[in-house]
Amino acid sequence: MKKVVKFGGSSLASAEQFKKVGNIIRSDAERRFVVPSAPGKRNSKDIKVTDMLYACYALAEDGKKFDKELADIKARYDEIINGLELKLDLSDEFAKISENFKAKAGSDYAASRGEYLNGIVMADYLGFEFIDSASVIFFDENGEFDADKTNRVLSVRLAGCEHAVVPGFYGAYEDGTVKTFSRGGSDVTGSIVAKAVQADVYENWTDVSGFLVADPRIIKNPEVIDTITYRELRELAYMGASVLHEDAIFPVRQEGIPINIRNTNVPEDSGTWIVGSTCQKSKYTITGIAGKKGFCAVNIEKDMMNSEVGFGRRVLQSFEENGINFEHMPSGIDTMTVFVHQDEFMDKEQKVVAGIHRLADPDSIDIEADFALIAVVGRGMKSTRGTAGRIFSALAHANVNVKMIDQGSSELNIIIGVSNDDFEMAIKAIYDIFVISQL
Ligand code: ASP
Repeated sequence: MKKVVKFGGSSLASAEQFKKVGNIIRSDAERRFVVPSAPGKRNSKDIKVTDMLYACYALAEDGKKFDKELADIKARYDEIINGLELKLDLSDEFAKISENFKAKAGSDYAASRGEYLNGIVMADYLGFEFIDSASVIFFDENGEFDADKTNRVLSVRLAGCEHAVVPGFYGAYEDGTVKTFSRGGSDVTGSIVAKAVQADVYENWTDVSGFLVADPRIIKNPEVIDTITYRELRELAYMGASVLHEDAIFPVRQEGIPINIRNTNVPEDSGTWIVGSTCQKSKYTITGIAGKKGFCAVNIEKDMMNSEVGFGRRVLQSFEENGINFEHMPSGIDTMTVFVHQDEFMDKEQKVVAGIHRLADPDSIDIEADFALIAVVGRGMKSTRGTAGRIFSALAHANVNVKMIDQGSSELNIIIGVSNDDFEMAIKAIYDIFVISQL
């Protein structure tokens, strides 16, 4: 068995956290490939090293002095190195970074140093080989991740290693110029490494005991999801639930490698398993609930709309011409509604409306703002009768007016539109009916 273990910033924020990570790795000989993030926050007021690096490099780029800011970053690593009693000195590395900052090596290079240096510390601490990600993870000339080349090079490189540390978040262009993934991208590196070594599992260690059924800012101590499929996860992540970088799913999904989300601070918790498909039923009919505020509904009416071929296409053309994505499009006989993100739509609304008039000649267009959309997701809904009914009655009891309902054709999700003001109340009501009342 081979396991790839990725640790997030909060798991590596201090020497104390590093020791927990060391214990986790040493307690299982199969944990052979380690992907670290940069040191994160030690407390809620702290600053992540990645953010310190961006700020420090911004000074360098403006031609300002940045010595103190860089020394503060070095102090973060020295605190960890001293706390672990390592004989490691990063002075030469920092001298090189300072030179490169002066030479304006770019903000991607700057940010990547957080993971690069943490990888060096981690490799020293564990006695594992250090592999610079710039030599094994590649981007093409358009800045897109080059999955084929990376997998070719990385799988060969790692085949020769018993143990290795591969820092997260970055890779390089053909010419060696460093490029990062988007924020939180160490998750992606972990997935790429898991694919390259054909791992049996990709363990993603963080500071929560898995993926939660609902947002903990709305529901106090929500239940943890034991097992979730990739498709369910995509649905929930799209609606704002987050533990994992979205792009981290693809490399392992193709290979059928499961992801196990674990908690560095409570390693005995089994966490959440993210899998391709499963015969395991979720504990409840639903797997999770997520949602977002800030949508707008554009209601379009036209008599005899139902018999006019191409009406829907003409309406959507106006959104397309203005570069606006739509989320949902429920329709009646003579009406259709297009849900869009309010912040994207706001500046262009009059252009879109004029476009619809020009292209589709409707009787009226009416815009309603401040909607929230809630996704109730679960593979179990397909085989359970009455799920939508239960949602409706729970919301009616909670005095929440349902403005829209849309069931995906895969029966994996039900999307509900409510007003922004009812958002929290609606999530609580749905959680209560499916989870609390089943406990
Ligand atoms: N350190 C990077 C960030 O803060 C990447 C990561 O932690 O995954 O976004």
